Amino acid sequence: MSKKIVVIGSSNIDLIMQVERLPIPGETITGGIFHQTFGGKGANQAVGAARSGGDVTFVSCLGDDSFANDIIESFKEDGINTKHVFTKEGIATGTALIMIDQAGENCITVAPGANYELLPEHIDAIENTLQEASYLLLQCEIHPATLSYIIDKAWQLGVKTILNLAPARDLLEEQLAKLHLLIVNESEAAFLLKSPVDTIEQAKAAAHTLAEKVAHGVIVTLGAKGSYTVTADDAFMIAAKQVKAIDTTAAGDIFCGALTTALVEGMPLAEAIRFASAASAVAVTRLGAQDSAPTRAEIEAML
Ligand code: ADP
Repeated sequence: MSKKIVVIGSSNIDLIMQVERLPIPGETITGGIFHQTFGGKGANQAVGAARSGGDVTFVSCLGDDSFANDIIESFKEDGINTKHVFTKEGIATGTALIMIDQAGENCITVAPGANYELLPEHIDAIENTLQEASYLLLQCEIHPATLSYIIDKAWQLGVKTILNLAPARDLLEEQLAKLHLLIVNESEAAFLLKSPVDTIEQAKAAAHTLAEKVAHGVIVTLGAKGSYTVTADDAFMIAAKQVKAIDTTAAGDIFCGALTTALVEGMPLAEAIRFASAASAVAVTRLGAQDSAPTRAEIEAML
């Protein structure tokens, strides 16, 4: 069986400000510390999968600014195949403004830019690569019409799709049914089900309801509490590793990337989730998105 992973999604420049506390509307807070890093949920997940040991091809669209080459070089340093990273003239690379307070809580705004220029025609152009993949990993920072097109295409090609519904968006039932795995956090689960998911009991109930709608299974991630998974014949909680979190920005992204690597290697789902939890536990102890993604050795040490 193929060991290849295709990740399709966003690439962003992350402009990060560490502040004592998050401002309220209209307020200015000074004394921050500034960093610039590469992010975007798609790119973060591609790096998470590659650093954890996956053979990753990343499909994304960048702008024609000075960031694009730097981003591509950084993907190459992580061993990611960039032959399907497209660039679009006259538009900015996706940009995220991120504020992080002392407790590690964050507040983020995003300009999708070139990410919304990834179109169905690009997906048609990469059909051969997609067909060779064992798993396709998706998130929701690309245009909704392109996302739907990809889900349909992967289903037709028989490629297993893992969708991290982040940021949350509505999805047709017929598209949910084409997902091998759906990964949501508590707020994304609440959005999808239009009902609150604030307690572990509500998260478990949400996972059971959502599992009825997808092809194989649902994982509801619960931050420092871990995650709850439901498939047709199993339901289980996996606790998070106990660490001192300093920045949870890409916890879910690293989780999704590492999980895909583990599944491609043939790990059973529960073992793959333990591997992913260890990866994200390392990531939350560091600042940044892609910067925080751990290597295989670091994940194994955490396990
Ligand atoms: P998202 O970033 O999408 O909101 P979560 O916050 O639920 O996702 O985190 C995803 C996974 O990352 C969790 O299931 C858990 O395994 C791990 N994780 C998140 N926060 C922490 C933390 N503070 N300590 C340890 N592990 C964490």
